[in-house]
Amino acid sequence: MIDVIKLLPDSVANQIAAGEVIQRPASAVKELMENSLDAGATQIDLYVKDAGKGMIMVIDNGCGMSETDARLCFERHATSKISKAEDLFSIRTMGFRGEALASIAAIAQVELKTRRKEDEVGVKIINEGSVIKEQTLAPMAVGTTFTVKNLFFNVPARRNFLKSANAEMRHVVEEFTRVALMNPEVGFILNSDGKELYHLFPGNLKQRIMGLFGNNYNEKLLPVRQETDRVTINGYIVKAEFAKKTRGEQYFFVNKRFIKHPYLHHAIENAFLEMIPKDSFPGYFLNIEVDPADIDVNIHPTKTEVNFLDVKLIYAILHAAVRKAIGQNNLSPMIDFDEPTNLGIDFGEVVKQSNPIVQPSVPFNPSYNPFSEKREFTKSSFGGFQSFEKRQDPGDWRQLYEEPAKEEPVQKNHYIQLNQSYIITTLKSGILVIDQHLAHCRILFEKFLKELENDSGQSQQELFPEPFSLNANDASLLRDILPDLRRVGFDLEQVNATTFIIKGTPADMAGFNAVEMIEKMIDNYKINRTDLNLDRKLGIAKTMSSQLALKASTALTEMEMQNLADQLFGCSVAEVAPDGKKIYAILTLDELNLKLKT
Ligand code: ADP
Ligand code: MG
Repeated sequence: MIDVIKLLPDSVANQIAAGEVIQRPASAVKELMENSLDAGATQIDLYVKDAGKGMIMVIDNGCGMSETDARLCFERHATSKISKAEDLFSIRTMGFRGEALASIAAIAQVELKTRRKEDEVGVKIINEGSVIKEQTLAPMAVGTTFTVKNLFFNVPARRNFLKSANAEMRHVVEEFTRVALMNPEVGFILNSDGKELYHLFPGNLKQRIMGLFGNNYNEKLLPVRQETDRVTINGYIVKAEFAKKTRGEQYFFVNKRFIKHPYLHHAIENAFLEMIPKDSFPGYFLNIEVDPADIDVNIHPTKTEVNFLDVKLIYAILHAAVRKAIGQNNLSPMIDFDEPTNLGIDFGEVVKQSNPIVQPSVPFNPSYNPFSEKREFTKSSFGGFQSFEKRQDPGDWRQLYEEPAKEEPVQKNHYIQLNQSYIITTLKSGILVIDQHLAHCRILFEKFLKELENDSGQSQQELFPEPFSLNANDASLLRDILPDLRRVGFDLEQVNATTFIIKGTPADMAGFNAVEMIEKMIDNYKINRTDLNLDRKLGIAKTMSSQLALKASTALTEMEMQNLADQLFGCSVAEVAPDGKKIYAILTLDELNLKLKT
């Protein structure tokens, strides 16, 4: 027998790890901006070229770094923000794993310039693919400037699967918005390909919302404020009559960090119940402050998911706070703590101090015309960033990014299938071969994991609910994992000590035998039994994804192949399947040349 295990070279390991933190230009934007905030910056300017694919530059006036720190910050687990494991639970700053800069440097060309106020002169460091290429002195103002060029230059598969400039730019604007919203006391600029898209002055939250979404928001917002000894809720909801047909303006933060939380989202939506039409969505900009010890943020690498220790309590408080805001608005004008104050900034017509008139009881805007709003930004009238010039109101051109554009891949690829098992397509630099089964495993795995965290699995009701029996031991194991199975969409009911009925199954499970799947899951749980929540969830996601994933020897259409490839490279880890197997291989032009010419 020959040994088959090889250790990955560091550079490859770094690139794989980088995929978890940096999936697209917008992820780098987020990490860099959060670092600037953590450094105490009061002004943060973001410049991007080609939607961040060409260049991302973040300039801040924060505390800067010493020369040693400037070299060190690119190392994995280099962080000034925690020193012992307990710190993880009390952390209030944004980043805390010391991974962002190491990840960015692994997959891009990075220039760092930084200067502290006690230093006469700054330092400039160039790092390419994790290697420091240059270090010189740099005369500059106090603060830090990161310039990130050619993201994914050494990971052609990822680079190739970035979306069109429009789509990537939407993500960049979204991250910028999330950071800017919760830090209204900081000034921000966003400049894209030489055009200034946002220039946000320091102010309060209401002014910040207006700066980001348009001055007309002055009349659309209702303040929400609720303080209890466990949580404080603060922010604005959009009045019911301005509810939109798209889900755009739903911003929910915990301790100022943007998160997605379908369950708590439901608390808000529910509070609006019967106030807005069925097909419309309430808008909100809400921050919940909780003791960091009451949450667990680090359950997903991109950190948009959070577990609360007492989520039911938060649900109730949030629901009540939003209801109260709506109710008070209907009775009498609200006191608004954030009413624009004069900061020496010209808000033009915005600063109308008069209070809003009592809202009409019509629960939606009768003059709303679904055809008037968005149609003007069709693809044909929008041929690139030039058209931004004409759009002065930020709220206006924002819609353009929100247009659910049919995302065309940057370059149209063809896909062919080999042996009904492998998907083959070309990259600029070679040939990409994807194992369809492993790719699908990875996609489903990440999907189930999300559903397990968010409790968001869709269930398909069975027409003929099927009873099944287990032995006493298995039945008790099933009871252990039952709550998690519900999260991914199993609707099971226990009839007696050993008999269960399957009333519903996960939506993706059509055509699969649910009882068999449940038995597999019990078996798996038997082998890897653990009481750790996360491990148990990983186990379930693994079993389900490997069972449900597309098998080898399945014919696929070109469309299906393209979808699979797109979804794969949208995953946080595209390189390896949940069981560690490599998902794809690239045959480079160089390798081909070598083969052909010898
Ligand atoms: P983390 O933010 O999790 O600590 P990063 O890789 O994002 O990890 O950053 C590593 C370290 O580099 C930070 O802890 C901080 O000390 C330093 N750093 C990064 N960006 C800046 C900045 N804009 N200004 C000052 N220091 C910075
Ligand atoms: Mg960071």
